[in-house]
Amino acid sequence: MSTYHIQTYGCQMNYSDTERMESYLQALGYDKAPSFEEADLIMFNTCSIRQSAEDRVYGHMRTIEQMRRQHKKITVVITGCMVRKSSSRYSSERDKLFNTTRELDIALRTEELPKLAALARELDPESKIPEIKEESLEDYFKISPTHSSHQSKAQAFVAISNGCDKFCTYCIVPYSRGREKSRDIQEILKECTQLVENGCKEITLIGQTVNSYGLSQYDKEEKTFEFLGEKEPFIYLLEEIDKLHTKGLVRLSFTSSHPKDMSDQLIEAMANLKTIMPYLHLPVQAGDNRTLKRMNRTYTVEHYRKIIEKLRKAIPGISISTDIIVGFCGETDEEFENTYKFFDEMDFEHGYISQYSERTGTTAARFIKDDISEAVKQERWNKLNDNLLRQKSKKAHERFLGKTVQVLVESQEGKKCLGRSEHFKTVQFQSGRKLLGEIVPVKITKAMEWILEGELV
Ligand code: SF4
Repeated sequence: MSTYHIQTYGCQMNYSDTERMESYLQALGYDKAPSFEEADLIMFNTCSIRQSAEDRVYGHMRTIEQMRRQHKKITVVITGCMVRKSSSRYSSERDKLFNTTRELDIALRTEELPKLAALARELDPESKIPEIKEESLEDYFKISPTHSSHQSKAQAFVAISNGCDKFCTYCIVPYSRGREKSRDIQEILKECTQLVENGCKEITLIGQTVNSYGLSQYDKEEKTFEFLGEKEPFIYLLEEIDKLHTKGLVRLSFTSSHPKDMSDQLIEAMANLKTIMPYLHLPVQAGDNRTLKRMNRTYTVEHYRKIIEKLRKAIPGISISTDIIVGFCGETDEEFENTYKFFDEMDFEHGYISQYSERTGTTAARFIKDDISEAVKQERWNKLNDNLLRQKSKKAHERFLGKTVQVLVESQEGKKCLGRSEHFKTVQFQSGRKLLGEIVPVKITKAMEWILEGELV
């Protein structure tokens, strides 16, 4: 029996893709290997957001070179953001990645996962990899995910769309994953229903711009959602999933959202639906209109500010987190100061701050000079991350001191339980009972920068 190991990098979307990859490999007859070194097929599900994520993949190639020197027969696959063209080392037209590492056997675009068997046979015509004829394995979204990213069956990611139409100038996703396509609504509802009937309490809907579900050019041309009339497909989807509260669904969230698609109707739906968590991750990326324009983010700080005001009015106490890129091409001191002030003004409770690094193939890499020095990027990152973000996160945590929150336990080692509250705060507490996958009341006794501590009530 052949074995596989998948090394996953990046966002929740990549982890969800890995769950589909696992299903597909298991259908081909592969078993999960306990470790990287014991696998016959090693797959890297990559992320291109930061250079460091790519560097880690290349670092593993050195280990693979050593494994091969010891005569281990391995098939190496790179998939995810780093790949543009599905191909094997023997394909007539190969992905550029084959020029950067000798250890690569197959490059695979994520949504072309069903091509993996054919590429593996191209590599080794004698291999016993079966022909896939099942309809459920021919289309990426029809492949059932293993839902193995979480430790308990109480939580699950459900992918609702793939690709992106937004073309932010720094981002590779529209090229690596292609244009945005929404998944069939009935298939999503079927997957959610099965999950809930199987004990799932928290569903996170995921997509590159999850709140533009059903609004892409492709969806419009296909007229897939015409039956909804004026209703936004994403709101309809949320309402339908929310009905699963009668079967045991407690929490529903979604990520990542794009500010352009945060409509008033969506905010109203978030306020009214029973299962929606009082938490939203809404990437702003910069707090200066000139920077946003160069990034092609297609909204202004004024528009973003209005959304936050409406969200806070409709859902009092909502936790809002964001993403910021510092040191983007041409970012002046004044522009950075505006971003810093905007972060302060918006009172973000959490944020993922990254330093811009050029990604080959993006619009920014081709047309906008990466002219901010590494030292300045680091200085700006330190100022925002170490100064403001820490303060904001601690302040946000302090509002829960003495309060009882509901924690879904995500991991438990001995007595140490770790989970998330309804506001998506990480909470740690002790319990002698087995609580993995349970939602339990915890009284908060200590608020630290990145974590809350409490006692089981
Ligand atoms: S919205 Fe922008 S940053 Fe997000 S995936 Fe699309 S192009 Fe990339």
